[in-house]
Amino acid sequence: MHEWALAESILTTAVEAAEKEKLKKIKNIKIAIGELQQIEHDIFKFALGEIIKLQGDKLKGVKTTIETEKSTLQCRNCEHKWSFSDIKKKLNNDEAEAVHFIPEVAFVHTRCPKCKSPDFEITKGRGVSIISITGEK
Ligand SMILES: [Zn+2]
Repeated sequence: MHEWALAESILTTAVEAAEKEKLKKIKNIKIAIGELQQIEHDIFKFALGEIIKLQGDKLKGVKTTIETEKSTLQCRNCEHKWSFSDIKKKLNNDEAEAVHFIPEVAFVHTRCPKCKSPDFEITKGRGVSIISITGEK
């Protein structure tokens, strides 16, 4: 049910942003889902559609576009940055499968490619965010 809560909060944010920009109608909401956000894209898309239907005029006929945002990691020791796809390339099939369901698995054996420090943070590609909103003034 996590997807529904996220969909609802995205739409609430979009409506608030549209009000701020004095948009009469929202046409399209472009949403980014981080590579490391564990959500079912199909359920999320369905939830968005259902909530849009239940809403009033503001969201009537709104289209949503969903993009996947690449995840970036940064070493806390040497500040080197690398991407989650680099880690994935080095995994075998079983590991890749596990990572698909539990992204954190990828980090258990992950070290900074530069200084080998296990101390890093995910700087991008976690969570759901709005990239842009288009509409009519
Ligand atoms: Zn490092």
